Amino acid sequence: MKFPIYFDYNSTTPIDPLVLEEMMPYLTEKFGNPSSRTHSYGLEAEIAVDIARKRIADLIGASVEEIIFTGTATESINLAIKGFIEALNEDNIHIVTTKIEHSAVLNTCKYIEQFGHKVTYLNVDNSGLIDIEELKSSIKSNTRLVTIQTANNEIGTIQPISEIGEICRENKIVFHTDASQAVGKIPINVDELNIDMLSFSGHKIYGPKGIGVLFIRKKKPTIKIKEQIHGGGQERNLRSGTLNVPAIVGIGKACEICNKELYKESLRLTVYRDRIINNIKARIENSYLNGHPTKRLSTNINFSFKNIDNVQLLREMKDIACSTGSACSSESGEPSHTLIAIGRSPELIRGSVRFGLGRFNTDEEIEYLIKNIVKSVSELRQRAGFLDEIYTRL
Ligand SMILES: *Cc1c(COP(=O)(O)O)cnc(C)c1O
Repeated sequence: MKFPIYFDYNSTTPIDPLVLEEMMPYLTEKFGNPSSRTHSYGLEAEIAVDIARKRIADLIGASVEEIIFTGTATESINLAIKGFIEALNEDNIHIVTTKIEHSAVLNTCKYIEQFGHKVTYLNVDNSGLIDIEELKSSIKSNTRLVTIQTANNEIGTIQPISEIGEICRENKIVFHTDASQAVGKIPINVDELNIDMLSFSGHKIYGPKGIGVLFIRKKKPTIKIKEQIHGGGQERNLRSGTLNVPAIVGIGKACEICNKELYKESLRLTVYRDRIINNIKARIENSYLNGHPTKRLSTNINFSFKNIDNVQLLREMKDIACSTGSACSSESGEPSHTLIAIGRSPELIRGSVRFGLGRFNTDEEIEYLIKNIVKSVSELRQRAGFLDEIYTRL
């Protein structure tokens, strides 16, 4: 085993060796600009981009003209929301989202509010699910966009995307979903789910960093977007700038692998996930799973431990690379808005830890993780004077 063992796959993933192998020629001898169609360098780069676009489209059931390359999922989300609102060119637009979106969505919505548009932030229940009835009753005559994440990055809860899509379609409202945690982990078909726009990122699916995708529906209905970066007109004039060919080749290969491995991998990781959850529940007193027990990503575990400080716990588990809540919210030092929204007390938020599982975790690592958490929580509580409470149960 390589220490510290990586259990932070919800933050980012390593590049799959097969992805790197596919990328390498485009970082070296095949360096052409795909817009330079006057010679073979440009043409071979263009062909590589076309292949990647097809692989991405195939993973989500889209067509190649509906795939736009950006720099990150954050940029895709900004383009989707701002670009859509700007293209509408209406006053007083109403948007519906949730309280547990990634900051990329929440802060873009806050930005939009400055221009007089209104945003409804839907509540979630204590497992992180929205209430479909609340969604229905939030819809007004000026509601133009619903943006709800497919799955949560902190607690792994998977939203009822199919129902949300249906409601949006019935009400002729455009539906964008931040699928950064979900693409490649659960099956997604944009037509079956009535998704109009979808954002995700290379580095969460064993591709490189610095590449994002935005799916924009072209037909039934046609979604119009105003570009946010002006320039040479690449990506159907929606995102100018020379294409990041090696990263595009990488995310394309990453999508192809996910398409092939999705079911097998998610089954394997679900077994790991539930083994860890069941062991923690059985062996650690006063431990609380955050998020839904079953409507949950195979890659996510989030626990709150009573009478534990998560920063101390991470220090204690020095062989384990994991996270307190989400990497983004821990940077700002604020308590997680997601854990607040599911009703966790400040004390349990302080005791929350996220373990992200992924492709390269092994049986041996899972066993090590379980032993290490049980031991670390116990030792910290022991030190804090909770010896009796713990040992009667162990
Ligand atoms: C990681 C993540 C993002 C941001 O992705 P970047 O590519 O790093 O910008 C947005 N939403 C969710 C749910 C994420 O997990």
